[in-house]
Formats: sequence, structure tokens, C-alpha cells
Amino acid sequence: MSAEVLVGGRRPLAVIDIDGVLADVRHRLHHVVARPKDWDAFFAAAPDDPVLETGLETARRLAEVCDLVYLSGRPERCRRDTLEWFTRHHLPAGELLLRRPDDRRPSRIMKVEVLDRLSQDASVTVLVDDDPLVCQAAREAGYDVLPAHWMGESAEQETLISAQEVDGRT
Ligand SMILES: [Mg+2]
Repeated sequence: MSAEVLVGGRRPLAVIDIDGVLADVRHRLHHVVARPKDWDAFFAAAPDDPVLETGLETARRLAEVCDLVYLSGRPERCRRDTLEWFTRHHLPAGELLLRRPDDRRPSRIMKVEVLDRLSQDASVTVLVDDDPLVCQAAREAGYDVLPAHWMGESAEQETLISAQEVDGRT
């Protein structure tokens, strides 16, 4: 790694989303596709997510050259479940940033704000995210983005993204 990419002596950061990037959420989308949406059930089922192998491999490759930050719209109360899931699926070490209580802003706003904060202390090499709105907002803010398409497109996934946009939940 060349010295010029280091800011403040830190390795550059790779910022990685969880749901739809590392975790296959398709088995629990029905909780938020149905009405009324049941976000509690949606998050409660997260420990059962299969790992997305392409996402796991991407995280491992990025960890060779970057420090990882896992940035998810999951609420803070999901921290223990998420860390246990990381351990079970052998995710590389990294800081875990979750949505603060009462923060219902769309992910595209919340995540770009976090990227801006992180980039004050370190260079942000890439954001890996599956939400097109998040990817677009990050690009417009000047960040390089790796869009994650590997969970597969589905009508349910599109519904989730629009639900996130409206409810500011994940
Ligand atoms: Mg996602």
C-alpha cells in the first residue's frame, strides 16, 4: 500500500452494508411486504439469514487492504444478534455502525452523513451497498461505490427499498 493513501496513519476504510450485501434477507422480506409492515419481526428473523458468499468474499478481500466498517440501517438494538451472526459466519473484524434510536431518516441520508464523518479521519476507499438510492447518493457525494447485485433482483426487494425510503428503518 502506498503511503499517500494513509490519512492520520490509518489504513483506508471500506464501508460495507449488511442486509442484501452480506446477509440474505429474502426469507424475512414478507414481514415488510405485507401490510401492516412488521419491522420488529423483520429484524427478529435476522439471525437466521444465510450468508451471501459473494459478499463474504468481497469483505475478506477488502480486509486485506482496508479497515472495515460495517454500516447498516439496522437499529442499534440488533447489535448483539448482528455480532453473533458475524462470528458464526466468520466475517472479518470491523467496526459496526447501526442506526441510532429515533433516527428514521432514509438510509441514503444517514449513510452519506456517516461516510462524511468517517472521511474526516481516514480515507474512504469504497462503499459496498445494495440499495440503488444509497449508491447514487454516495456517488453524488464523491465516494466510490461497489453496488451489490448478488442477492438477486426481486419485486420484494424493490418493495423493501421503497419501504426503507418511506420508513427509514434499515
Ligand atoms: Mg442493504
